[in-house]
Amino acid sequence: KSFVESMLPSDVLECCENFESPSPIQSRAWPFLLDGRDFIGIAATGSGKTLAFGVPAIMHVLKKRKGKLSKGRNPLCLVLSPTRELAQQISDVLCDAGKPCGVKSVCLYGGTPKEHQISALKSGVDIAIGTPGRLRDLIEMGVCSLKEVTFGVLDEADRMLDMGFEPEVRYILGQTCSARQMVMFSATWPLSVHQLAQEFMDPNPVKV
Ligand code: AMP
Repeated sequence: KSFVESMLPSDVLECCENFESPSPIQSRAWPFLLDGRDFIGIAATGSGKTLAFGVPAIMHVLKKRKGKLSKGRNPLCLVLSPTRELAQQISDVLCDAGKPCGVKSVCLYGGTPKEHQISALKSGVDIAIGTPGRLRDLIEMGVCSLKEVTFGVLDEADRMLDMGFEPEVRYILGQTCSARQMVMFSATWPLSVHQLAQEFMDPNPVKV
């Protein structure tokens, strides 16, 4: 499949201008995610998975906002990452990818003062990328509302559970809109991840 065949708007595809064609996981994920399906990807880093969920996340925002970018807007998309390094990597990619279409991302991770993250949230964001602990803190402080999140991503779900973040993940997903589209990426597929998927995803997600 080519980028042209993906039928995506050119400002959304600007982030891919240096690539020859969509990576296999992108080709397989995009049609389902643009169609609103829940999706499980068993894929490792380096497969292009960030844009596999990132491009549909940006499209989700554009479709919902219809050009209305009010100050103080709450995020519509949430990406959970087990580590701060991965969260920053994802955020760098999504900030760049969203720039040509006015889609704003914020990265919320621990080990650093909260002020800057809080003021970014106050100024209005479309996509929040975060680590479980800091995100829970910000929700409990009342400075981060996920009630409008209708597109959720769990990246490296297996690692997230290995690191003991299951209570945070459950709490955080419980704060999002119940009618949401869910994406899960994991390198492995242990029972714990399977159970999480059963609880928070459609009964019949697409699995690639
Ligand atoms: P990721 O798996 O998202 O961490 O991406 C791994 C690397 O692949 C990054 O350096 C991306 O810039 C690159 N990449 C993403 N999509 C493509 C693509 N369609 N073609 C070639 N490289 C890509």
